[in-house]
Amino acid sequence: MDNFIDVILPIPLQKLFTYKITKAEASFLKNGMRVAVEFGKSKIYTALVYKIHQIPPIGYEAKEIYQILDDIPVVNKIQINHWEWISSYYMCSLGEVYRAALPSAFLLESETEVQLVKDFTNEEGLSNEEFLIFEALQHQSQLSIQQIVEIIGKKTVFPIIKTLIDKNAIVVKEQIYEQYKPKLEKYVRLTEEWNASEKLSELMDSLSRAKKQRAIILTFFQLQSAKKPIKITQLQEDSNSSSAVIKSLIDKGIFEIYFIQTDRISFDGKSGKIKELTSHQEEAFIAIKENFKTKQTVLLKGVTSSGKTEVYVKLIKKIIDEGKQVLYLLPEIALTTQLIDRLQLYFGEYLSVFHSKYSMNERVEVWNNVLENKQKAQLILGARSSMFLPFSNLGLIIVDEEHEPSFKQYDPAPRYHARDSAIVLAKQHNAKVILGSATPSIETFYNAQQGKYGLVELNRRFGNVLLPEIELVDVKEKYRKKRMTGHFSDRLLEMITEALDNKEQVILFQNRRGFAPVVECETCGVSPQCPNCDVSLTYHNYRKELRCHYCGHRQAMPHNCGACGSANLNTKGFGTEQIEIELLELFPKAKVGRMDLDTTRGKYSYQKILGQFQSQEIDILVGTQMLSKGLDFANVSLVGIMNADNMLNFPDFRAHERSYQLMVQVSGRAGRASKRGKVAVQTYNPNHQILQQVSTTAFEEMYKEQLEERWQYHYPPFYRIIKITLRHKDFNRVEEGAIWLGKSLISIFKHDILGPSTPGISKIRNYYIRTLIVKIPQKQSLAVSKKQIQRVKNAFQAINEFRSIRFNIDVDNY
Ligand code: ADP
Ligand code: ZN
Ligand code: ZN
Repeated sequence: MDNFIDVILPIPLQKLFTYKITKAEASFLKNGMRVAVEFGKSKIYTALVYKIHQIPPIGYEAKEIYQILDDIPVVNKIQINHWEWISSYYMCSLGEVYRAALPSAFLLESETEVQLVKDFTNEEGLSNEEFLIFEALQHQSQLSIQQIVEIIGKKTVFPIIKTLIDKNAIVVKEQIYEQYKPKLEKYVRLTEEWNASEKLSELMDSLSRAKKQRAIILTFFQLQSAKKPIKITQLQEDSNSSSAVIKSLIDKGIFEIYFIQTDRISFDGKSGKIKELTSHQEEAFIAIKENFKTKQTVLLKGVTSSGKTEVYVKLIKKIIDEGKQVLYLLPEIALTTQLIDRLQLYFGEYLSVFHSKYSMNERVEVWNNVLENKQKAQLILGARSSMFLPFSNLGLIIVDEEHEPSFKQYDPAPRYHARDSAIVLAKQHNAKVILGSATPSIETFYNAQQGKYGLVELNRRFGNVLLPEIELVDVKEKYRKKRMTGHFSDRLLEMITEALDNKEQVILFQNRRGFAPVVECETCGVSPQCPNCDVSLTYHNYRKELRCHYCGHRQAMPHNCGACGSANLNTKGFGTEQIEIELLELFPKAKVGRMDLDTTRGKYSYQKILGQFQSQEIDILVGTQMLSKGLDFANVSLVGIMNADNMLNFPDFRAHERSYQLMVQVSGRAGRASKRGKVAVQTYNPNHQILQQVSTTAFEEMYKEQLEERWQYHYPPFYRIIKITLRHKDFNRVEEGAIWLGKSLISIFKHDILGPSTPGISKIRNYYIRTLIVKIPQKQSLAVSKKQIQRVKNAFQAINEFRSIRFNIDVDNY
């Protein structure tokens, strides 16, 4: 009898594909191992063994596999079950989940391109075949696997490529190289023994005969009055002394050196004791444990700076002590050194970080550590994709800032929500889930209210610091009275001045990056448009160019209007870059930093800017959304929200909820350590209900109002929504397809269909877009509705003219 395997291919296929294997292969292979196979027109893929059996496929002759790539399974049974849930819930193929789940280095295929590692020199360490590839790459900057197959003269090349990657000779091309490597900056401070002002005279006396050392101490105290950490280089410069003298003070135990920026996550052996919980935190900790007795998932709703992290730490400790793994999920952007540092101090030898910005090798390393259940992989900190790691023994999943939109993957498929998928994953491991937020999403709070999740609250900030005082500034009024300078009201300027005078730091939040969203001709009113997308181009002052944020198109800033030729081009609206420029003029002495997508491209760039802010080299930090997430700076006393209206006016059913969350989170950055912070919100609509709720942190009032609207307008949590997007380069074709699809869906779902409609941005990268929304009431079966949608999709794709239209389904597209 012949032997066969069903495999998952990393492409969207509706069914699993079957290959033939030999008897020897059958006795060696296990589910979850990878094999190299040919599929389609001589394309090679890395497939995953799903099932081993003896039933030949119907309708085609099974091909043989090329070779087995693993000695042990790299994917386990629980993972496959989880993928199956994702594939069925989010209506995508198992292959798409497989592709998203594994690090790309595990998924070599014929189109994969490889490149030489620049400084590779160990040629002697290469085998003959490896050397052939190495040599070819001397002449050609990159090679596809297909080309390598031709060079070596056989199809079984994946293992050779794997060893070349292991030897660090080549890399898979998609890898992003890191430009910025942070260097460790050395700072100096008094040792604990001498760090008290009354010790100063004693110290000076003891150095009475060391003139140079005395001079350094005096300079040190001068610098210290600025309340900023002191760099060793600065101390040396200002005191006009040599490093040898400073070193002698260190040797004497008077000074000590410390570092502020840390780079790659490696455990330096330092560890700290877990903090004693306050009585409120202790109560919350006990309540969570109590809730876990009957509930799988608990929402920890704790105001900003209430010490949620410290409560998580206690829970993590408990689970690790029980010998189980912990997954700590956080929104993409929040992977700051701050949290990593804190967790590293407590769990250094147990902690690994998994991040999409990490290099391929680092990701493979973490994958393997988790697979082998190594000590270092007992606590995994990562963004949404870390949920796909090969956990075998999860005890707890923490979803921090659970309301964050970046837990949802929009493109490509699988279009999953990491919070919801994590809850399912936890069920499969029989593990617990804690969802944490100061501003829970409506759907999570609803689930807690319904008793589906447990609810534990922490309503006090650590140290009993009051929540910041929020002031709404009416800019319409300010404009009328001519009290605006650029985009700053006199009130906000006054508050900034006061903070800077007190040597405190300021955060300014602006919802847009770049200098000004659009350039407009003052004569004819036309704005330059992206040639590929239906959007106006954005002006970037730094390079004096126009850019499209959707497709990356760039062009130089024109001198004349393309429509009428007039030279009166004006920039309209404002972004982070313009705020930064205005600040430089308004506060020439202050050091201003900016944090947005443009300034934080590299892996370390967040850390660089945040490190500078932390070490108080930056006085005012201007930024977008990124600033709202979990940052903890003791010296920030003022947060300014430059323009609250552009969030509120966003055309989306969650705009109000999101605005509330964003503003409360940003405000939460103020006054965390001791003094009550201040927040100024500039707006044209100070009476807007959401702004009123933000200013009093009236979460439950906001929740009730939003929930009522959701009920009235048929939105989640009362209705499920599934969004279908059609894309094609031919305008008429996508239009016809959308009309056909709309009619078919309406015949099934009646009035619960919205559209077909043209989205706000109707063309991206030359593809015209149409969308349809299916709303599914709670009483209607979700599974049945999905089957119906799938049937309509199959019928749609059976129509010749429509076959080339891209058809995306997004379940829970919010
Ligand atoms: P949240 O995550 O709720 O915003 P954090 O966990 O970041 O709050 O805590 C805010 C600050 O208070 C942090 O600097 C943290 O170190 C400090 N803190 C919280 N709880 C304690 C505690 N029990 N003992 C000492 N410091 C604490
Ligand atoms: Zn014009
Ligand atoms: Zn574009």
